[in-house]
Amino acid sequence: TYVVTDACIRCKYMDCVEVCPVDCFYEGENMLVINPSECIDCGVCEPECPAEAILPDTENGLEQWLELNTTFSAQWPNV
Ligand code: SF4
Repeated sequence: TYVVTDACIRCKYMDCVEVCPVDCFYEGENMLVINPSECIDCGVCEPECPAEAILPDTENGLEQWLELNTTFSAQWPNV
């Protein structure tokens, strides 16, 4: 799965949302998150993010962001 990280906070360009084929972005007050159980790992959102906030969870050190994306995508509205 891909995860949204801290560079997204107060960014919200939404370019990623436009391109996601499975509509798995969720929006809170300050940022977006990806629902890891819906993401099909296509990768098209990564280069679209102007803040470079979207990263594959295979990168080191993203465990906490994966957890946050999982938690908040269950609570926030789909966008
Ligand atoms: Fe959507 Fe693909 Fe990005 Fe996953 S990797 S959030 S499916 S655009």
